[in-house]
Amino acid sequence: MTDLPPAAYRQSFVQHEGAEYWLEKVGTGRQLVVKASDSSAYAGLDGAADGDTFRADATDANALELRNRLPWLKPQLFGLATSAGTGDRLGICTPGHVRAFKAAGQGIRPVFAQQSIREMGRCHREPRNVLDDATWGAFQEGWTAGVGADADHLHTTEDIDRCAQAGFVFYTLDPNEYVDPEAEGADEATIRSKAEALDWASLDSSQKQFLSTYVGHRIDLEHESITLDEQSVLRAMAKYGPSLANAMDLYRHLQSLGIPHEVEFAVDETDYPTKPAEHVVVVSELKRLGMEFVSFAPRFVGGFEKGVEYIGDLAELKRDFEIHAEIAKALGPYKLSLHSGSDKYSTYPLFAEATGGLAHLKTAGTSWAEALRVIARHDGDLMREITALALESFEQNRKSYHLSCDPARVPSNPTDAQLTTLLDVVDSRQVLHVGYGAILEAYGPRMFEVWQNNDEELYGIIEEHFVKHLAPFAH
Ligand SMILES: [Zn+2]
Repeated sequence: MTDLPPAAYRQSFVQHEGAEYWLEKVGTGRQLVVKASDSSAYAGLDGAADGDTFRADATDANALELRNRLPWLKPQLFGLATSAGTGDRLGICTPGHVRAFKAAGQGIRPVFAQQSIREMGRCHREPRNVLDDATWGAFQEGWTAGVGADADHLHTTEDIDRCAQAGFVFYTLDPNEYVDPEAEGADEATIRSKAEALDWASLDSSQKQFLSTYVGHRIDLEHESITLDEQSVLRAMAKYGPSLANAMDLYRHLQSLGIPHEVEFAVDETDYPTKPAEHVVVVSELKRLGMEFVSFAPRFVGGFEKGVEYIGDLAELKRDFEIHAEIAKALGPYKLSLHSGSDKYSTYPLFAEATGGLAHLKTAGTSWAEALRVIARHDGDLMREITALALESFEQNRKSYHLSCDPARVPSNPTDAQLTTLLDVVDSRQVLHVGYGAILEAYGPRMFEVWQNNDEELYGIIEEHFVKHLAPFAH
């Protein structure tokens, strides 16, 4: 093995097909170094050779080429394997995620590249940036056990195209705009008229056919059975019917692209919990229509808010996990997916046990919140400005998020002592959690400088935080 220079990220060193690859820190950037006697080892990379050593900047184009050379960096399908998506709004946290998977993620397949289209918009990122940043991060920290890539919460065929072009392989279809929340509490007559008004042809069915399939239908689960009655199946269809047609449109579009893909069907961002009968009807209808998916994200009971512990009755949640997991085994099997999964430490052991590992855990913004700790420690004045802006822009930032924080309880000009607890107190953590768009827009360059100067500390914080998320799922 080559003696690595001090600037090298030692973990990145890897040998593949007769060449040596590693990453070096160069000024404020990074360079890929390839050492090989044969120049074909770096053909296609954009850089310069000096003797047997070739150097290439950590650009998007070189990330793509690196994925082509080192197959473990190319996103792959995980099927039913236990998996977890880390999400990274900043594109600099993957090395910390890798350390957590190495330390506590045995048996869990990682999805480092994962961001919803909504978040990408607020962060001014494109799908390719998300993938490329995750590639460099995984390479830097020496992750060679395979990666996924989740195009999260897709709503349109254009979203799918953008992610497909970038190289994503895991597609989370989210038709929640087509879920009808009024059906939740509507009376029987309203439910009937909503069901009658459905565009049954788009579902390749009729109400009569639907009723004869489901009314009285019994599903035998491991510990009990569910018998469907007319009321609940009609309500399920009134609530989810249009979303199924929309999801199938997205799915057929994805299939038509002819790329490797796997699918998650997600209704976790709807207003009301997904009832067991609704789970059965929705999944059975999607299967009848030809959708194949590896995971399903229902809306579970209780409060899954951004960046804070679970809000609700844990015994009730345990029961909810169990029944949905049993349905997923009986109708699939497919994985149950837990979204807004960050910081809900009390729920992971319950979820891991109920699913028996047939599970996907999805966290999105928690790395961002944790990264703010580094700012608070090293640049108090910047953190005060950030906090003030997060408060000022809160009404705009909070849109489309489930939150219970009271911004009035957040200090707009925190003292040094308050700075140390901003990320631990629910009110300030949530206000900062959803403020990323406005904050990065105003202070991005200053913040990235702090993170760059304290990268090891950042990775350590992220690792420690994610170890707590992953450990209950390791096997
Ligand atoms: Zn979600």
